[in-house]
Formats: sequence, structure tokens, C-alpha cells
Amino acid sequence: MPEIENRLATDDCPHAWQREGLFINAFGRHLRRRFGGRVQRVSVDAGFTCPNVDGAVTTGGCNFCDNRSFSPSRRVRLRRVSEQLSAGIERVTKRYDRVEGFIAYFQPATNTYAPVEQLEEIFQLALAADSRIVGLAVGTRPDCVPESVLELLERLAVDHSVSLEFGMQSVHDESLQWMNRAHTHADMINAIDRARGRGFECCAHVILGVPGEDHAMMMQTAHEVGVLGLDAIKLHNLYSVHGTPLGDEVLAGKVQMMDREEYIRTVVDFLELIPPTTIVERVSGDAPPQFLIEPKWCLEKSAIRNEIDAEFARRRSRQGARFVAPPTPPLERPRPSDQTPDSIAAQIDQRGRLPVLKMQGS
Ligand code: SF4
Repeated sequence: MPEIENRLATDDCPHAWQREGLFINAFGRHLRRRFGGRVQRVSVDAGFTCPNVDGAVTTGGCNFCDNRSFSPSRRVRLRRVSEQLSAGIERVTKRYDRVEGFIAYFQPATNTYAPVEQLEEIFQLALAADSRIVGLAVGTRPDCVPESVLELLERLAVDHSVSLEFGMQSVHDESLQWMNRAHTHADMINAIDRARGRGFECCAHVILGVPGEDHAMMMQTAHEVGVLGLDAIKLHNLYSVHGTPLGDEVLAGKVQMMDREEYIRTVVDFLELIPPTTIVERVSGDAPPQFLIEPKWCLEKSAIRNEIDAEFARRRSRQGARFVAPPTPPLERPRPSDQTPDSIAAQIDQRGRLPVLKMQGS
């Protein structure tokens, strides 16, 4: 599909992405500007679990997440981090002609849920696995970033690109409860207010289309992106996969997923409200077709992306068009004390090193 023309783009626009004629501050282009070429993420499963799976805060995991594999006994054959990265890099270099660098993406489960010494070992291993690895992305939960972990990431960010990805999902506690997250939005505020301004990027995952959330509620989550000063966001449509509580409810006809047109409009409304400086890493989410129940439209990722651009063009709008700066700039927000739940800290202490991660060293 041809690129859609952005008639708002002029040489006087304050942001590079605007001058380039984009409608959003897109992640891929951001990486190209920063590293001078294509940079690809390579996913790593280091064998973590989650505090809402192993009982530290609850059991069962999030209702949309197929977390049945998050147990060390099921991962005995997990390959070493360095081997996963080598295989991932090889796959990517076969697919793309020229790749300037790679980011080791600790993706499944809660990748800060282990003693900090073990986290340091595993992150250093990843950074040393290949000279083309320029940094780390670490997916986690807002209730699992004690000070020691933030200090570690701050040290690593001196010489590397580091991104900490929080599963924020929504600012509404009733939605977080529905998902069985077992944390509140107050946990997210505490985490970001402690993580901000340490030299690494803070990203939040957001889910649109949660049952019970109307349009105004989703826009409240959009508003919070600027209030909290998030560096980046990943937007996901709620989708259901087989083998999850949500999947069962969808199959039983008890829960409906958002339809495509409504999702496109909601994403554009959302992005108009966030700062123009926020990097947009994703505008939709999907699962492999064999696992996905609904909605099927989310498999058409590039078409969805084009429809979002077309909606911006139709409105003569772009990201940040309706953003209103918060009265307190994010960097002036006071840094609170660490509110990591005692049950999570105790679980890390009692369990000690994750057995599966003992296998990662050479
Ligand atoms: S969505 Fe994240 S926090 Fe929830 S169970 Fe899955 S990996 Fe854990």
C-alpha cells in the first residue's frame, strides 16, 4: 500500500517524525534515527515466572495470558540465553539485508523477578552474547521493580540502550482486577515515579477494549501517559487465545472483542491525547493464528497500521494534536519510597536463584 500523505508536515515542525511526514512517533523510525539503520529486537525467554502466577500476590496469571508454560519444570530444555540470541540474530539477518544492531528482548513473564545478582548476571550475558547487541528491553510488572533493580538498569544504561517495559494495561483498578493482574494503578505510579530520569527508557503496555471500559475510561488512560511522562507506549487490542480464562469466556459468548473500526477510531483518539514526544512502539497486538480466537482482524497488522494513518489523514490530525501538558511536569514529580509488596520481596528472598537460570552460565 502506498504511504498516506501527511499534509501537516512542514520543515518547521518541532519533531523529527513530524518533519518526516509521519502521523505518529513510530518506534522503527526512532531506532533508525538513533542508530543510523535498522535495529531489531530478538526475544529471549530466560525462564522467569510472575508473582500473579506463583502465588506471591495471587495465582492463575492474567486472564488473557497463556502462562501455563511459566514453570521451571516445564522449561528444563530452555536454551541458554546466548544460544537463543544467536539463533534469533541468525533468523533476523536471513530476513533483512542490513541490520545495524540488535536488542535482547526479555519478553515472556516478569523479567525482574529474581535476585538482583542473578539479573545482573543474565543481562550481562545477553549484552556480551554478540558484538552487534546494542541494548536490552526488559518486560516486567509495576509491582516488581525494587530499587536494587532500577539501580542495576541505571548502571547498564550508561553504555547501552535499555528499555524497561511495564504492563500498565489500564489506569482503572476494576479493569486490572478483571484481568487478575493483582496490582493496582497506584503500583504503576510508584514504579514510574521511581524509574523515571535514570537514563533508561520507560515504556508502558496498554490494552484497549477491556470489557466494562467505555471510551471515556480509555481516554483517561491516554491522559495518564503524559501525566506520568512515559517515554514509550505499546498499544494492544484485547485479544483472546485458546487455553486462557478469557479465551473460555469468549468461546462461551460471554465477552466480546472490540470491532475493527471502533479500534481504529479509539487508537487515533488515544494517540491524539498523548505527548508528541512519546515513542509509539506498537499500535495493535496479535497472536499466532493457531492460538487466536478473536478478533481475527488483528492478524492484518500492516493493514491496521495503514487504516490508523488514513484516519489521522482524514481528520488532518496526528499524535499529540490534543495533548494538554500536565500542571506538574513529569520530571518534577517527587520520587516516592519503594512500595514493592513485601510478599514479592519475600518470595525472591526465599526462592533465591531460579533453578532454570542456573543453566544459563557457560
Ligand atoms: S501478562 Fe504478564 S504479568 Fe500477566 S501472567 Fe502474562 S507474563 Fe505474567
